[in-house]
Amino acid sequence: MHRRKKLSANAERRLRTRAEEKLGRARERLARMQPGGEPGRPIDVASASVVEAQARSMACPKCLGPCQVVEHAAETMQGQRLRIAKVICNHCGSHRAIHFRIVGDALN
Ligand SMILES: [Zn+2]
Repeated sequence: MHRRKKLSANAERRLRTRAEEKLGRARERLARMQPGGEPGRPIDVASASVVEAQARSMACPKCLGPCQVVEHAAETMQGQRLRIAKVICNHCGSHRAIHFRIVGDALN
């Protein structure tokens, strides 16, 4: 006599969590290949003042949660003015850096 084996709620949750983590890692890899994910692939912005708002508007690639900017650094690389926004996810706490390039003409 066989009783149908049913996954316990815990086992089901574990399975789901593993699947979500896998998806999250795939999304993180994808995010690195997208604009802003690397210094060599910055997002063009007209001025430094929009960097933080733009970085905040980009959801966490891992869990799609909202992020906040924890650091905003200016760097010059190969003659390009880059801005690096370091964000942390409010939801899962994962960190990432988003790269921007200032392309607008500086007025001052
Ligand atoms: Zn997250």
